[in-house]
Amino acid sequence: MSLKTHRMTLKPGRDRSIRHGHPWIFSGAVASVTGNAEPGDIVLAVSNDQEPLAQGFFNDQSDIRFRVLTRRFDAPVDASFWAQRIRSAVDQRQRLVPPGTTACRLINAEGDEMPGLIVDRYGDSLVVTIATAGIEKHRHVILDQLRRICPATRIYERSDGHARQREGLEDRIGPILGDLPAAPIMITENHLLFEVDIITGQKTGFFLDQRDNRERIGGLSRGSVVLNCFSYTGGFSIYCARGGADRIISVDTSASANDMARRNLELNGFSPEQHPVIQADVFQYLRKTGECFDLIILDPPSFAKSGKDIARASRGYKDINLQAMRRLREGGLLATFSCSNYIDQDLFEKIVLGAARDAQRSLQLIARLAAGGDHPILLAHPEGRYLKGLLLRVVA
Ligand code: SAH
Repeated sequence: MSLKTHRMTLKPGRDRSIRHGHPWIFSGAVASVTGNAEPGDIVLAVSNDQEPLAQGFFNDQSDIRFRVLTRRFDAPVDASFWAQRIRSAVDQRQRLVPPGTTACRLINAEGDEMPGLIVDRYGDSLVVTIATAGIEKHRHVILDQLRRICPATRIYERSDGHARQREGLEDRIGPILGDLPAAPIMITENHLLFEVDIITGQKTGFFLDQRDNRERIGGLSRGSVVLNCFSYTGGFSIYCARGGADRIISVDTSASANDMARRNLELNGFSPEQHPVIQADVFQYLRKTGECFDLIILDPPSFAKSGKDIARASRGYKDINLQAMRRLREGGLLATFSCSNYIDQDLFEKIVLGAARDAQRSLQLIARLAAGGDHPILLAHPEGRYLKGLLLRVVA
């Protein structure tokens, strides 16, 4: 390790959580920093009595003052460090991603010990999101290693959003390698075909985190009338069509997502006449429809973008769950999700239970659901568990 590495000394007793495996140190735990460390520099975190704890990214612009990169001190964070981290993440995916699948998350930030770096593969295109000053500062060396280890004909960057603002970074969007795709990219997922728009689509183009849940819920849909709420480009609907659902109604406010959902149905040999895609607000649609369903999927966008939104978001989640429960026949299934960091599993279950009470429905818990294995999370980092879901069955 270079002698000029800055040292960040913690206040007495504030080394506990990092010793327990948590990958962040908040500003309130820091006593002092040597020299003039800049956002994104690699510093050595030490306990109050100067015992080394970890090397990681420093950022005095963010409340998350330090993010762990490595708990070893005998090696510098250089090109070979990044190569080893990238290779380890990418090698795992070979085992974790099912056959017939050409799109997955290759690097999942803290979960792959690369805080703030997200890389998604869509066929031979990669989409990169950089969300921390640390990755930003080391982007050239990291991107060089990424290109070497993951050959791709195109790398497109989509670095925007709240997380970047909180790190004091401007948005950066555009090609890193190759051209802009002239048309949506075609991927397969569990042998199903999907068009993905990596330029204007949501997230990096597709909700890769729901792959295993789509497969599981599709497998429960034979003979069912299904309502897929917040259907985006039709992910859950197409799995349900393959699973043998009689009729699937997809509801989303986005006209462009709905067009793509119709094309995705057709690409897989299903008809949008039999499986209608409706442009509507789910809150209103659930109140208006007189239909009863065998399976309802609720996969809304995040209703809470910060801690201040928790109460309002909780009301939103309760409302759609309550309305959906009223539209399920006895024995019907509800697959309900929240992808908000600020609503944890415990709170989410309380909200759904509150909805069941108000709807006067009794529910069985069939399964708790989460993101797939290509979205690993450090066990010691509950903040990483953003996607949570419940698969429920109405018993009365
Ligand atoms: N289940 C999808 C992902 C859903 S993303 C999949 O597996 O791919 C959330 C979607 O909700 C977006 O497409 C967005 O357009 C839509 N949306 C947001 N607010 C909405 C509302 N009030 N009513 C209907 N759709 C909404």
